[in-house]
Amino acid sequence: MVPKLICVGECMVELAEVGDGTYRRGFAGDTFNAAWYARQALPGDWAVEYASCIGVDAVSDQMAAFMAGEGVGTDALRRVEGRTVGLYMISTEGGERSFAYWRGQAAAKLLADDPDWLRGVLGQGAHVHFSGITLAILAPDARARFLDVLRDVRGQGVGVSFDTNVRPRLWEDAEVTRAAMMAAAGVSDLVLPSFDEEEALFGDADSAATVARYASAGAGSVVVKNGAAPMLGWDGGETVEVPVVPVARVVDTTAAGDSFAGAFLGARLTGAGLRDAMERAAAVSARVIGAPGALVR
Ligand code: ADP
Repeated sequence: MVPKLICVGECMVELAEVGDGTYRRGFAGDTFNAAWYARQALPGDWAVEYASCIGVDAVSDQMAAFMAGEGVGTDALRRVEGRTVGLYMISTEGGERSFAYWRGQAAAKLLADDPDWLRGVLGQGAHVHFSGITLAILAPDARARFLDVLRDVRGQGVGVSFDTNVRPRLWEDAEVTRAAMMAAAGVSDLVLPSFDEEEALFGDADSAATVARYASAGAGSVVVKNGAAPMLGWDGGETVEVPVVPVARVVDTTAAGDSFAGAFLGARLTGAGLRDAMERAAAVSARVIGAPGALVR
């Protein structure tokens, strides 16, 4: 059986204004973007799948067809009657982009409502990747169930990675967010935080403080990204500081972190060392922020 990377969370319909009130439909979401970039990075003898809940309606069918067309497997999508997928619109006014979200009816919120299904699906992975958004969209009891399932599958030998992706608007309050981030790090082999978000949420003084905090929560390794500043990686042994790849003109930072995660996982899962994987991931992110959109080929 081929080894599988399973990314789990919420993929949404994206409507991006192309001018004059006309919008182009796409599909995106942090953990799906990471799956897409991991698919580009991994050799063909690895499978990449997306685990989530979607509806039984036409737009859910279109989302699943899009994923399959991009080489991301859809066997781990559970269909939920009476729900649909979330949606966001990117409007552009005077060059400034603003986002509006509709995700109240999203089936993905029910991801952990059937823990036996979730355990069965995630247990088939060689590695499972999730994010702070995966947790944020779940009700508090569902969050606890989700982390229990991760703990179980990790106990069976599945690797686990966590991109913190802190989105304060999706959370009840900062205290709940901090507790969830630390609990998630405690079930993860790898944590991928961005320093600005960690500084805002936890008051970390520097990237080394972020590494130390997630290590104390139980993370096996931590890679702190910090925009254009050097990254700090720790793999349980060595700590390395790695410069990013300079970008002459930043066009659109959407999916900088998601592409980093996908490329980093692709490298690590096929045997790259810590520094090498960080360098390869930074090269992909540099390319992504130099072009518009989340999914840059
Ligand atoms: P996130 O999208 O998760 O907030 P970051 O802003 O921390 O992510 O950036 C993730 C990675 O993207 C960085 O480690 C770096 O490799 C790359 N990156 C982001 N901004 C820049 C930039 N201005 N110049 C070069 N690389 C960047």
